[in-house]
Amino acid sequence: MISLHTWAARDLDDGLVAVMNDVGSQIGEFVERKRAEVALQESEKRMRSVLDNVSDGLATIDQTGVIDSANPAVVKLFGYAEQELIGQQADILIATTHRSAFDNYLQRRLKLDIPVSGAHETMGKRKNGSLFPLEFVVSSMQVGARHLFIATLRDISERKAHTDALEYQALHDALTGLPNRSLFGDRLRQALLAARRNQKMFGVLLLDLDRFKDINDALGHDRGDSLLQEVTARLRGVLRATDTVARLGGDEFAVLTTDAKHPEDVVASARKILASLEGPFAIADQMVETGASIGIAMYPVHGDDPSTLLRRADVAMYVAKRSGGGYALYQPEQEAQTLRRSGLAGELRRAIPQGELVLHYQPQITLASGAIHSVEALVRWNHPREGLMPPDRFIPMAEETGIIHPLTAWVIDAALSQLCKWVADGLDVSVSLNVSPRNIEDHSLEEMVARALGNFKVEPNRLTLEITEGVAMAAAAAKALHRLHEMGVRLALDDFGTGYSSLLYLMRLPVNEIKIDRSFVAALASDPDSGAIVRSAVGLGHNLGLRVVAEGLQDRIAEAVLVEAGCDAAQGFLVGRPADEAEITALLMQQAGLAKEKLTESI
Ligand code: C2E
Ligand code: MG
Ligand code: MG
Repeated sequence: MISLHTWAARDLDDGLVAVMNDVGSQIGEFVERKRAEVALQESEKRMRSVLDNVSDGLATIDQTGVIDSANPAVVKLFGYAEQELIGQQADILIATTHRSAFDNYLQRRLKLDIPVSGAHETMGKRKNGSLFPLEFVVSSMQVGARHLFIATLRDISERKAHTDALEYQALHDALTGLPNRSLFGDRLRQALLAARRNQKMFGVLLLDLDRFKDINDALGHDRGDSLLQEVTARLRGVLRATDTVARLGGDEFAVLTTDAKHPEDVVASARKILASLEGPFAIADQMVETGASIGIAMYPVHGDDPSTLLRRADVAMYVAKRSGGGYALYQPEQEAQTLRRSGLAGELRRAIPQGELVLHYQPQITLASGAIHSVEALVRWNHPREGLMPPDRFIPMAEETGIIHPLTAWVIDAALSQLCKWVADGLDVSVSLNVSPRNIEDHSLEEMVARALGNFKVEPNRLTLEITEGVAMAAAAAKALHRLHEMGVRLALDDFGTGYSSLLYLMRLPVNEIKIDRSFVAALASDPDSGAIVRSAVGLGHNLGLRVVAEGLQDRIAEAVLVEAGCDAAQGFLVGRPADEAEITALLMQQAGLAKEKLTESI
């Protein structure tokens, strides 16, 4: 509202009204303009503060690709002052090698012929010349009559490092850093394509460590892991840079040798690997020995696709393992054997209810008197086609497939039922039987034993369970063994001297007996070191109040050493081979009869 004042009173004439109208509207326009200007300034200020404070680099570009403005983030990102950037072509921010792709992208954007969404990944270049991964998004904006383009620029080093790390993780084994199965598969496919193109050959080696499961059970998983890392280092040390070595899982490794000219070259690699694993490994404070079995399949003779090559290398590896380590080249007839083996697991499951398992018993004598006081039950499989199979041929498979549970249950029942008969016939004898680590792990052993002891009503101390160090070191062992001990069952440490366990730990277990492994006993006649080992094992056992039994006694010299060392008992071919129920019963009867005769004679 505007009011005009005069000293003299006057009428409003038309001229005056027109002037006033004019002045009024001019003032009105001025006020409006001022208000709009302030609003614009304020919005620019606001805009500016937004641009100054966003962490993304923002730059405006005109239709010819020239930089119009840049916010502080751009300045910080690229190290140029804002003034150095204004008026420059936007591609000075891009690495030279990436410029043509970038210009191409920008041109299409500036012509508005592609939708505005979508980022362009490229290499950014700072003023100091250093490069970094850059993401670039251009969107268009109409400002008055002008068409402006806003470029958003972002340093994606971190994101890239993260996705690279994820990609690396997906393709590598975390423990050893080696390529994993999936990356090995890729490399194998690449090798195949290259070999087909160039008419070359190559080899696939599958490697499995010997006794790794035992070592792992005995030393614990941490040390098992360390061993795998040490093995990896040795493999890397002997292989060429062009070979790929991968960890497929567990203790299984694979090697791809692509620059072999001859099958012999691949075999030479296998030999080098085996030699590299020969020396002991220092794991924490222990020396651990391992070896490996290697199966080899060659392209093109053994297969020309990845899965055939891997399968055949696996067949060959199994053959190498069966023959006690070393390497084996794939041979077609081997495949039939492994197929038979996989069929065998199903047969074994049926064999138990069909009564195909039998127990043989091997006598154990007290060295001082020569009398049999105990027998060890050893399982055999009376296979309809293959004949009598020794346990080494099916126990590992039973352990792998879980059949070991019904198998052990059967052994416990059969041995206790036999023992029950013997005792009923007046024979004073005990029975020992072997249990597998798998039986301890699933907590079923105590139950099986308790049930059988109840069923057959034999004194629990006539039963000895033989456990290997692998069993004793299983995580669940201590509890289970204490419970068995409380039931009155005796426990023996089998194959003593071959494991890697901490002796201190073993000695805290409620063990009654140790059985010195037959490898030491067999060597007594020829190797003085074995004598020392056996003597110290006997001494150690006795100091701990344990009974000491020697396994695998085969000759008189060894017997003399054992007697002299004070060993309590012995078992072995010299004393008697494992024999079937009838034979062993006759032997026990004969011994009892002789004892009776002696008794009547002396009366
Ligand atoms: P082990 O418990 O150490 O049993 C002794 C093995 O040594 C038996 O082999 C026996 O025949 C053999 N042996 C005995 N005396 C001599 C000798 O003087 N010289 C030689 N060279 N060998 C001798 P077998 O019956 O083939 O059993 C092998 C292994 O299979 C056993 O070793 C045991 O670990 C396992 N095993 C046997 N029966 C069972 C079973 O019922 N359950 C489980 N889990 N394992 C069993
Ligand atoms: Mg045994
Ligand atoms: Mg043994």
